[in-house]
Amino acid sequence: MTKITKFSVQDVRFPTSKDLTGSDAIHTDPDYSATYVTAYTDQSELKGYGIAFTIGKGNDIVAECIKHFFPIFENMDIDDLENNIGKLWFKCVDHSQLRWLGPEKGVVHMAVSAIFNCLWDLIAKKHKKPLWQFVVESEPEKIVSWLTFKYIEDVLTPEEALAILSNNQNDKQKRIDTVLQEGYPSYTTAAGWLGYSDEKIIQLCKEYIAKGWKHFKIKVGLDLDADVKRLDLIRKTIGDDCFIMVDANQQWNVKQSIKHINAYKKFNLFFVEEPTSPDDVMGFAKIKKEVGNVRLATGEACGGRIMFKQFLESGAMNICQIDSCRLGSINEIITVLLMAHKFNVPVFPHAGGVGLCEYVQHLCMIDYILINGSKNDKVVEYQDSLHEHFIYPCKIENGNYMPPLDHGYSIEMKEKSVNEFSFPNGEYWKNNI
Ligand SMILES: [Mg+2]
Repeated sequence: MTKITKFSVQDVRFPTSKDLTGSDAIHTDPDYSATYVTAYTDQSELKGYGIAFTIGKGNDIVAECIKHFFPIFENMDIDDLENNIGKLWFKCVDHSQLRWLGPEKGVVHMAVSAIFNCLWDLIAKKHKKPLWQFVVESEPEKIVSWLTFKYIEDVLTPEEALAILSNNQNDKQKRIDTVLQEGYPSYTTAAGWLGYSDEKIIQLCKEYIAKGWKHFKIKVGLDLDADVKRLDLIRKTIGDDCFIMVDANQQWNVKQSIKHINAYKKFNLFFVEEPTSPDDVMGFAKIKKEVGNVRLATGEACGGRIMFKQFLESGAMNICQIDSCRLGSINEIITVLLMAHKFNVPVFPHAGGVGLCEYVQHLCMIDYILINGSKNDKVVEYQDSLHEHFIYPCKIENGNYMPPLDHGYSIEMKEKSVNEFSFPNGEYWKNNI
């Protein structure tokens, strides 16, 4: 019997705004940050770690909110946690007072994400497996018990979820062998931040092609003529065998979106991401009607499964971009993966940020092995920064995420990094505020 004894949470911020890494049309000065949760147990070597991701200010607010959930899990036996994790998840998102601040969106939902990311890490470590492996090796009935169908039963029932998971059991081992050998393809965002000069973008595109990448995402949105010039430059640099996708980060209204996307058409874009407000399902549907076969991607800012339900069912989302720290961890991520599969919408998890690559490497494996069964024409975001702060950073070979083999959910940070970048009293911030 192993018990959770206590938790801690730290506000960790990396000063990425200094070199404009992460900059886009709306978020011009992000400091990639993590609310870093640790679960301690009565076995000193067994700890769980989890994060929610933010871009600086407000990280402390998420951290404060996370503390409200600690009493639910303190002194809980880990076996009881595992056996009841579906019910416990709903108890948190449906908290009789905290739900007023959501419900199931915003700071409270990010806090739920952080704590459940931590709890899933702990459970996978208890089983001495990487999280993706623990999940894909679990029985379909058990997986369904982790999920909440409230408000989505009209598009996905527990019976349908069970049928999808059960049907995929047969060839599961073949797919596990495939990813262990080949990995899962990624695209890079690292070359196209809005704050970068043309010279820097060209140099980075060349570097990433040499390393094996074929898919490049570029930030756009502030100036149509400048964007077209930049896309032209990038197309000439990477050639027609590579793929370009653009991300407007919610910059435009519906009319502007249609104008911009149609102006980019000659570049044969792989997809256009977040043209307008991430909540505007009807707006996305209107844009889609006017841009022909250009695929619209969104989801990194969708708070929960109910938003995904609307986007997927309406045909307004053509690429489903789940976020590991905005959705309520594995319990809700699997639900969204199942809905996307039902509506035949490919999932390209979002990973611009700190720790998100470490998380998505598990999620793409789960989607491929357990739910979707195909990785053709699919790519997961990859961003080449801040991995040095993690004890088990993601591994990329020839542009592919290789399945993590260390136990857990891969998010444990180096103690030195946590201490240096803790806000506001870590070594770095003490001298730089
Ligand atoms: Mg984006």
